[in-house]
Amino acid sequence: MTSNLEILVQDIKTFVREELYPLEPILLQQGYYAVEAAVYEKRERVKARGWWAPSIPRHYGGLGLNLPDFARVSEVLGLSFLGHLTFNCQAPDIGNMELLMEVASDEQKERYLMPLIRGEIRSCFSMTEPEHAGSNPLYMSATAVKDGDDYVINGHKWFTSSQEGTAFAIVMAITNPDAPKLHQRASQIIVPTDTPGFRRLRNIKIMGEAGEGYFTDAEIVYENVRVPQANLLGREGEGFALAQMRLGPGRVHHCMRWIGICERAFDLMCQRAASRELSPGKLLAEKQTIQHWIAESRAEINAARFLVMDVAHKIESGGAHAARVDISLIKFYVAGVLDRLMDRAVQVHGALGITDDTMLAFAYRRERAARIYDGPDEVHKSAVARHILKEYGVNVSI
Ligand SMILES: Cc1cc2nc3c(=O)[nH]c(=O)nc-3n(C[C@H](O)[C@H](O)[C@H](O)COP(=O)(O)OP(=O)(O)OC[C@H]3O[C@@H](n4cnc5c(N)ncnc54)[C@H](O)[C@@H]3O)c2cc1C
Repeated sequence: MTSNLEILVQDIKTFVREELYPLEPILLQQGYYAVEAAVYEKRERVKARGWWAPSIPRHYGGLGLNLPDFARVSEVLGLSFLGHLTFNCQAPDIGNMELLMEVASDEQKERYLMPLIRGEIRSCFSMTEPEHAGSNPLYMSATAVKDGDDYVINGHKWFTSSQEGTAFAIVMAITNPDAPKLHQRASQIIVPTDTPGFRRLRNIKIMGEAGEGYFTDAEIVYENVRVPQANLLGREGEGFALAQMRLGPGRVHHCMRWIGICERAFDLMCQRAASRELSPGKLLAEKQTIQHWIAESRAEINAARFLVMDVAHKIESGGAHAARVDISLIKFYVAGVLDRLMDRAVQVHGALGITDDTMLAFAYRRERAARIYDGPDEVHKSAVARHILKEYGVNVSI
């Protein structure tokens, strides 16, 4: 018998194919703003179908899926670059929503969380600084100093994703420079992006493309940005603890989205192999190299999905902390699968693969970063290896 979840996943997949795929050529050829109004019109249809904000609990106005069920939905939304945005479960907003649900005060929820869940505003997360290694964010220069009832924030951030068009940023800054432990020095503070002193220097060009609106990564300076102390999230010095909270489920979200991209690339790769003639009547698909890429890709995607779903169930039953090693494992493994899939799919398409006539080049440009953001591969591999080596009596320090 087909379960309710299977029906939901199939229905959403059909919606993504029929309603969102046709918008992609406009996004690819004319940019985000050419497609934004249509996306917001589709958002209304998603609400009408009862699919809005699938991971958010029902009492907040979402669909209320648990992590494993949302993971399945996230995969089919990942088939299109517009999927998550249209369903209001796009990064970084989804992480900010989860964080605010957990730690925001009633006033913060009213002012920032609820408009975010309703899709009236977007938000961003501003932690990484160009002057410091983002892979070890314990070291940062941004400060938030108390002055009267306010914090005054000064700092320089980059790769604040999707900042253009946002209403607020959650900013990580040092509030307790003398705390004995490094990870107790920083806090997370809500900063409305229209606060004087908040200045976007640029949208950073990534592989030749600065993007627009949701599809951007900003470099920002915070110059004497004054916000009320009531904008602090949680308690002072809890910034890293809060950052950890968002990362467990967040990595499952990313991994399933990447698997959706892999499935789309796989489909395009097979279609091209099955239709491109190398000579009259001789298909590209007849070449053994191509067949091996197809077989390897199928195996890798399936393996990745099993791994991620296993971790989603582990987090759901035992919490993110207990599953942290597995979370590191899927983060680098699935990013690697995505990397290989994109490369094979582009290669099979030849010159067409590097044009914007298919979604492949856009995905290739944007998702090369999957092996870097949310912790570079090497950091996660070391974390997994350290854990395994402990069982062999080896304690490797970080
Ligand atoms: C597309 C994109 C979106 C992003 N979005 C956001 C965002 O919204 N908000 C935000 O705050 N930040 C964001 N980031 C920043 C991201 O978190 C950092 O880029 C990431 O943490 C890596 O930091 P770094 O770039 O400074 O690299 P570094 O820390 O300088 O590391 C460089 C390289 O060194 C190697 N390396 C690092 N540590 C180790 C180690 N322990 N062992 C072995 N090798 C190691 C890795 O190969 C790594 O890629 C984003 C980045 C990208 C690319």
